[in-house]
Amino acid sequence: MFTDLHIHTLHSDGKLGVKETIDIAHARNIKTLSITDHDSIAGVGEAIGYSKSLGISCISGIELSCRNELSCVAFPQDVSIHILAYNIDYNHEELFNTLNQYHAIRKQILRELLQHLIKNDLDINYEDIYIVAGNQMRIQDVVNHINSCFMSHDKKEQCIAIAEGYYPKLFFQDYSLQRALQLIKNAGGLSVLAHPFFSYRDYDIEQNSFQNVSNLLDCLCDMGLDGIEAFYPTFTIGKSNFLYEEARNRDLFLTAGSDFHGTALRKTMMDFKIEQIAETVSLLNDVNRYSQ
Ligand SMILES: [Zn+2]
Ligand SMILES: [Zn+2]
Repeated sequence: MFTDLHIHTLHSDGKLGVKETIDIAHARNIKTLSITDHDSIAGVGEAIGYSKSLGISCISGIELSCRNELSCVAFPQDVSIHILAYNIDYNHEELFNTLNQYHAIRKQILRELLQHLIKNDLDINYEDIYIVAGNQMRIQDVVNHINSCFMSHDKKEQCIAIAEGYYPKLFFQDYSLQRALQLIKNAGGLSVLAHPFFSYRDYDIEQNSFQNVSNLLDCLCDMGLDGIEAFYPTFTIGKSNFLYEEARNRDLFLTAGSDFHGTALRKTMMDFKIEQIAETVSLLNDVNRYSQ
């Protein structure tokens, strides 16, 4: 049975809507999936309903943007760490309010950035900025807009530097790891460290060393982490084996996800069998409160 537990749609930075995305999964014979949009549960209800009509089991999910706020944890503090959650109550009030607040503050910071750019003689509008994927604007979208619309503006470089200077303000809104794991638990979900060998700085990927992954897992396990995404398209067999061992030693479950975005670089789903996650899939399906 094919399973893909890490899929994005238009509700975050994916290119396709929920139905279009699930149609692709259906065509590829995927029988269990989870729509895990960044910091959004907006597509989950539709995903569950539509999957059901196609005979697919849909596990409620989300991917939270987090940061390591503890200086005692030997892991970088300036990168975004992604935590997946499964089987969350997607109508949970605390989760719903927390996500709304997260997006409202991000939007406010981006509007402040635009005001800052306007003061620097850039005639720029929030609504005119093209979001490269999905509906969540990032600093890179603002930089792209400056580069394409103000090519010969004499303050172009200065304005790009101003925009990039706002990255830490946005990043600071990411949930602390502790807060994220607690929120997932409160919403009845299970937490999983996403693509452990990668962190993000806006759109830029940062590689994590084996040692840093271990350090991060030490701290996450103390906080009650449930699983590790051990199978991911760009992981080598060596990396997956390392994560497999880490999971076994720490009594964590294993997941597999494609991180499908419907974009040129991330358009393949996990349409092949991964024996090692069979236990996880049956566990998730057994406790799935939403597809019955
Ligand atoms: Zn991610
Ligand atoms: Zn993702």
